[in-house]
Amino acid sequence: PSHVTLSGVVRNYEGPPVVYALGPIDLEIRRGEFFSVVGPSGCGKSTLLDVLCGLVRPTSGSVHFEGKELHGQVPEGVGVVFQEDSSMRWLTVRQNVAFGLRTSNLPETEKAERVEHAIRFMGLVQFADHYPAQLSGGMRQRVCIARTLVLRPRLILLDEPFGALDQQTRLLMGDELLRLWRETGATVLLITHALDEAAMLSDRVGVMSARPGCFIDMVETGWPRE
Ligand code: ADP
Ligand code: ADP
Repeated sequence: PSHVTLSGVVRNYEGPPVVYALGPIDLEIRRGEFFSVVGPSGCGKSTLLDVLCGLVRPTSGSVHFEGKELHGQVPEGVGVVFQEDSSMRWLTVRQNVAFGLRTSNLPETEKAERVEHAIRFMGLVQFADHYPAQLSGGMRQRVCIARTLVLRPRLILLDEPFGALDQQTRLLMGDELLRLWRETGATVLLITHALDEAAMLSDRVGVMSARPGCFIDMVETGWPRE
C-alpha cells in the first residue's frame, strides 16, 4: 500500500524570473520501502523533500501521507534529518536528543525512556554528556538522527545526511541507516547525490534531472528483503 503519494506535484519559485524547480511528479512510496532520490545539484531534490515533509506547499498538485493531505507543517509520524549538522552546540547530546520531544505531550518518564533508547540505538551512550563540538561530524549526524527517532517516525526523510562526511564514515553511516530502517520498520526516503550509496541501500532509486526537476528513471534494485 502507498504510504506517501504525490499527484501532479509542481513547485515553482516566484520570480522574476520564475524558477521551475520541481515537477510535475507522480510518485507512490510504499509503506516500509527504502526509497532514494539521486540527481545533480540543483535538480530539485531539496525542494522535493520540503514538499514531502509538508514544509513547502506545492504550486499545484497534492501530497498525501497515510491518506491525509499535507498542509504547511511536518505531520505527526514524519521525521526529518537535514543536510547541515543541526545539532545545538549549547546543549549536550542528551539534551539535543530530548529537544526532539519538546512539543510532545508524552509523560516525562516515557520521554526519558525514549531519549535513552535513541541514545543507545545510535551508539551515543559514552557521549551523552558531551557537547556537539566535542564530537566528530559522523557522531553529530547520529545525534540529529537520534533527535528524530524519539518521535518514533513512521516516515523518515533524510536530505544528504552524510554529505559532509569522509568516505569511510559515510559507508559506516550507510550501514547504520540500513539497520535503523530494518529495526524500526519505517519508510525511509534518502536524498543523495551518490548513486552508489543509493543503489547499495535502497529498494528503489528515483533518478532526477533538472529543468524542471523530474524523474527520468525509476530503478528497482532487487535487494532481497526478508
Ligand atoms: P537540489 O537539492 O537538487 O540541489 P533544489 O531543490 O535546492 O535542488 O533547487 C532546485 C532549483 O530551485 C534550483 O534551480 C534552485 O536554484 C531553485 N531554488 C531553490 N530554492 C529556491 C528559492 N527559495 N527561490 C528561488 N529558487 C530556488
Ligand atoms: P522551531 O520550532 O524551534 O523553529 P524547527 O521546527 O525548525 O524548530 O525544528 C528544529 C529541528 O527539529 C529541525 O532541525 C528538525 O531536525 C527537528 N524537527 C522538527 N520537527 C520535526 C519532526 N516532526 N520530526 C523530526 N524532526 C523534527
